[in-house]
Amino acid sequence: MYDSYDSIVIGAGVMGSAAAYHLAKDGRRVLLIEQFKVGHTHGSSHGGSRIIRYTHDDVAYVRLMPAIFELWRRLEAESGIPLLQMTGGLYLGPEDEAFLCGAQQALQTLQYPYESLSPTELPARFPQFRIPSGWLALYQEQSGILAATRCVETLARQAVRCGATVREQTQVQAVRPEGGGVAVRLAGAGGEETVYAAQAVITAGPWTQRLLAPLLPYALPLQVTHQQVAYFAVEQPDLYAVGRCPLYIFTALPHFYGFPIFERAGEIKVGMELVGTVVDPDAPRTAMDTAIPELSAAIERTLVGVRPEPTRVELCLYTETPNHHFIIDRHPEHPQILIAGGFSGRGFKFGIAVGRLLADLAASAPGVYESEFWLPRFAVTRFAH
Ligand SMILES: Cc1cc2nc3c(=O)[nH]c(=O)nc-3n(C[C@H](O)[C@H](O)[C@H](O)COP(=O)(O)OP(=O)(O)OC[C@H]3O[C@@H](n4cnc5c(N)ncnc54)[C@H](O)[C@@H]3O)c2cc1C
Repeated sequence: MYDSYDSIVIGAGVMGSAAAYHLAKDGRRVLLIEQFKVGHTHGSSHGGSRIIRYTHDDVAYVRLMPAIFELWRRLEAESGIPLLQMTGGLYLGPEDEAFLCGAQQALQTLQYPYESLSPTELPARFPQFRIPSGWLALYQEQSGILAATRCVETLARQAVRCGATVREQTQVQAVRPEGGGVAVRLAGAGGEETVYAAQAVITAGPWTQRLLAPLLPYALPLQVTHQQVAYFAVEQPDLYAVGRCPLYIFTALPHFYGFPIFERAGEIKVGMELVGTVVDPDAPRTAMDTAIPELSAAIERTLVGVRPEPTRVELCLYTETPNHHFIIDRHPEHPQILIAGGFSGRGFKFGIAVGRLLADLAASAPGVYESEFWLPRFAVTRFAH
């Protein structure tokens, strides 16, 4: 019955495309299914840029970063496509702020270098930024930008080069454990059909809960929220050019992040996480205009020579667990079904490693977690009660 495929991967965002890439590289027969087209703009993985950084307040994640950078670099080398632009990163906030304290501790523990700049030292080094007294700016070199849509398309293309099949505009209606394998019901332009495989990998992003609800005895507390980023014109483009301007994350008042000029000539992209805007992933989306004035005010206070009216707003979705730790595991009762979801606003950088971890889990016996990227906090059973 399972002659056609070893693994059916459901969802070609960064996680599913990376899983298909690693599984196909491992010699598995892979079918990657996407309800839209690879690189579409309805989920979480689209756009021109995502931050990748060593700087994190949790040493377990920092420890993974060198290997993750290496995997992205290897994908660039294999495909011949540039995906990662190093920029350095500035992390700015009150001196006693939890993220900054935790990040310094984690970097020190692993002996990764960083610099601390005071409010008076900062403008001499990075004249684009202003912070009040009592704040600090932490500069860490191992920070950069992943060209998001290009990464997803490259992962899917490399998966195909290694033998995977991609079916676009095909929606998975249901996954059913059957005889030790899986039966996956599809609906596409040609109507409905059922395909069979030894394993299924569910990487459906904001739609994860919909596919998993009939399969799990308990609901996963995944919350889908509307998010947006905005572009702002700068007065002196050379000041915000890559090479002079690092990426930046302000950790307080309000928390926002941004990039040097990277995607659009003369403009920077800046985003602020929106809280409490829970949505249905299929509902029509519109920009949340009320959030823009707060972002514009923060830009006026902290970034030099940036016009505070946005030129363009782009929309996206987060899928979050309550403590923001990802879910990457086998189904507790049907180990032939693998699950990866809840990647919130920081999952992209880990995507290529999540794919590796899923391929490692697919290759090992139930109960075995031998992968350099496995962390016990990813277990799905933490939500069982
Ligand atoms: C505005 C914004 C900024 C971000 N910034 C960063 C950042 O700077 N750094 C960082 O590391 N991360 C960042 N993230 C987070 C990161 O982008 C996400 O965590 C990541 O893209 C999630 O990928 P995914 O594959 O899980 O989900 P998705 O990209 O949504 O992929 C899921 C896919 O599954 C498909 N699918 C779902 N159901 C079905 C079905 N039934 N049948 C077929 N296909 C299906 C969907 O169409 C979709 O393509 C950001 C996210 C947003 C929204």
